[in-house]
Amino acid sequence: MRPTAWISSLLALALLAGPAIALEESRVPGGVALVDLGEADTRPEATYRDRSVWVRRNGEGWQAVVGIPLEAETGEHRVRVDGGEDRTFRVAAKEYPVQRLEFDDDEMVSPNAEQMKRIRRDHREIKGAYRHFSEQSPVPEFRPPVEGERSSSFGLKRILNGEPRSPHSGMDIAAATGTSVVAPAAGEVIETGDYYFNGRTVFVDHGRGVVTLYCHLDSIDVEPGDRVATGDRLGTVGETGRVTDAHLHWSVSLNDARVDPALFLADEAE
Ligand code: ZN
Repeated sequence: MRPTAWISSLLALALLAGPAIALEESRVPGGVALVDLGEADTRPEATYRDRSVWVRRNGEGWQAVVGIPLEAETGEHRVRVDGGEDRTFRVAAKEYPVQRLEFDDDEMVSPNAEQMKRIRRDHREIKGAYRHFSEQSPVPEFRPPVEGERSSSFGLKRILNGEPRSPHSGMDIAAATGTSVVAPAAGEVIETGDYYFNGRTVFVDHGRGVVTLYCHLDSIDVEPGDRVATGDRLGTVGETGRVTDAHLHWSVSLNDARVDPALFLADEAE
């Protein structure tokens, strides 16, 4: 074999193997399962909890990258493969610590009827964004969307003013109001809004059900339909919505399941 032919077949092999995996597998609630789907000529369609999942190349075969929701039960879980055999994987237990927060403004914990109407409207829009599924292929590695101290607050069970509330479904990064928030990977802005709890918010679709969310922004610099490259500015850190101080709340969602964003950050790996 001529050296150039040898190099190009090596390159072809590298392409076949797909991108290097920065994404860390963690088969727990709020984690990600990498599920082997075997070989097939074309990309198989797969679903988990009735949602399409991200299926990517893995060597000669295919692999489902499945987001496991925080409320998932431990035990056996099933990935349904269109025209193929179901695959199963086990979700192990993970106990997230409890966090108690106090808000001076009780309407941030127990909203009135008028506020509840707005919250339900917000919720419908947010749900729609998370269920977005496009055909572009996401990358398995993100850069942090803002420089700052990252809390390990994902998954915390929250007690707000003494009342149990939904667990914390993202990562908080401390930064001053006005600090740039950038796209951690290429994608398309699919929704922006100003929500009761989340404040000013941007959603970015990275493809195949991988959607990221940026909350409590001070300003928004993008519009739905904008294509963004890694590092493009989305807006600035703020303290809009339900916050105790300025920070970015960043969520990563796969197949409509919020997972720990740290799993996508290369420098988080030990
Ligand atoms: Zn948060």
